[in-house]
Amino acid sequence: MNIAVEPVEETLDPGNWADIEALSHRMVDDAIAYLRDLRDRPVWQEMPEEVKTFFTTPLPRSPMALGDVYRQVSEKVMPYPMGNIHPRFWSWYMGAGNFAGAMGEFLAAIQGSNLGGGNHAAALMDQQVVDWCKELLGFPSSASGTLTSGGSMANFIGLNVARNVKAGIDVRELGVAAIKKPLRFYASDQMHSCHRKAVEALGLGNQSLRRIATDADFRIDVSALRRAIAEDRAQGLAPACIIATAGTVNTGAIDDLPALADLAEEEGLWFHIDGCIGALIALAPKNAHRVAGLERADSLAFDPHKWLHTPFEAGCVLIRDAEAHRRTFTVTPEFLEGRPRGLASGHWLHDYGLQTSRAFRALKIWMAFKEHGVNKFARLIDQNIAQAKYLSDLIRREPCLELAAPTSINIVCFRYRPGDLDAAALKALNIEIMLRLQEQGIAAISDTTIRGTHALRVAINNHRTRRRDLDLLVAETLRLGAEIRPADQIQRRVARL
Ligand SMILES: *Cc1c(COP(=O)(O)O)cnc(C)c1O
Repeated sequence: MNIAVEPVEETLDPGNWADIEALSHRMVDDAIAYLRDLRDRPVWQEMPEEVKTFFTTPLPRSPMALGDVYRQVSEKVMPYPMGNIHPRFWSWYMGAGNFAGAMGEFLAAIQGSNLGGGNHAAALMDQQVVDWCKELLGFPSSASGTLTSGGSMANFIGLNVARNVKAGIDVRELGVAAIKKPLRFYASDQMHSCHRKAVEALGLGNQSLRRIATDADFRIDVSALRRAIAEDRAQGLAPACIIATAGTVNTGAIDDLPALADLAEEEGLWFHIDGCIGALIALAPKNAHRVAGLERADSLAFDPHKWLHTPFEAGCVLIRDAEAHRRTFTVTPEFLEGRPRGLASGHWLHDYGLQTSRAFRALKIWMAFKEHGVNKFARLIDQNIAQAKYLSDLIRREPCLELAAPTSINIVCFRYRPGDLDAAALKALNIEIMLRLQEQGIAAISDTTIRGTHALRVAINNHRTRRRDLDLLVAETLRLGAEIRPADQIQRRVARL
């Protein structure tokens, strides 16, 4: 007699597909209601203690019904978002998401492809989205590019190619220690912090990145840059790369791209543009002229998860010299060797960056492009820039408010200034206004320091914002300012006693 004992073989698939179907439909219904009713909820709210401690509960070793898991997510996660999809979120700089993009994220995970490459539809779509980006930003079809986790990684890849091309030696084989003359990179004193991280990670050191002074409009001072390059050459250093910023974090300033392209050409330097904020203005009919010269970059980093509102994460870098791009990253391990036919006959997309496994980021961009058409995204960029001008005009009209920097695109820096306060008191008052705006769920704005002066900062990168939201921001800032000041004066008097 032969009693066969079936081994227990498990799977992560549901035991009952019908149950899962009903539950997933509920999740989608809830998700739609969540987006639809967004405006009625606070931008942000502090989490109760009970929610904070919920995230210290122990590792689950045994199962729980997915319906119960979902209930925990609905109660403990969904009500406490960062807030960036809300119409009155203008903190820092990020996109507001979109429904087709969210469904794209879902379907990409369901289809489950790994975008390290290979011969399959997702890999073709990944390349198609990069090709569309080249077309949108004026790059030749012979250029290369890759979708990344975000702008920091996109900039890193651009600077990595720049370093390798300008090293003068085989830096991949020999390392930075073998570089004859220390390389120098240049960017304005308004550049994003990711460039510092990049040069550090590239082994060049923070000192290799010279911060060049900016003019009254916070654009890089081109003649100061020219002098710095000459000075460095005279010192025996090797100027290698100019990093232009198209849209600075603090004020949205756009460097003089044509002048920098000319200078890079004259000096034989790599020309990289950090366009995480402003590159996509190239799409926008009313404002595209502001970023003329973008197409002259050797490498260009930008961020679909900002002005294309792609759900996080999605960055992109384009490199004019595709061969230089591949030479920087290609390594073909034996287990990823190409084959003439079959699954391994496609393009290996991991040859364009540091990752081997890559997310299927293209689908969420592709679906939103198809649904809305690119012209809609272009109009939304113009809309945000017009809204920033509208807000700047409101601020100019209020005696208690002042602009802290010229508004270039969609970033407005201002402060509440009732008149007779010193810098420290003014800063404390403005921070208190910002915190109460957040805590009362009215609006999320951030703050920064511009040339030593504190300012509130409103970055309007949001397709849900309406002008009435900006009216409300001004009204509430004035209300809070008036409310805090007398209390603040009383406190100071008490403190002096
Ligand atoms: C946002 C931003 C970055 C970094 O991009 P991430 O997507 O956050 O990694 C770099 N440069 C500028 C100018 C940015 O605004």
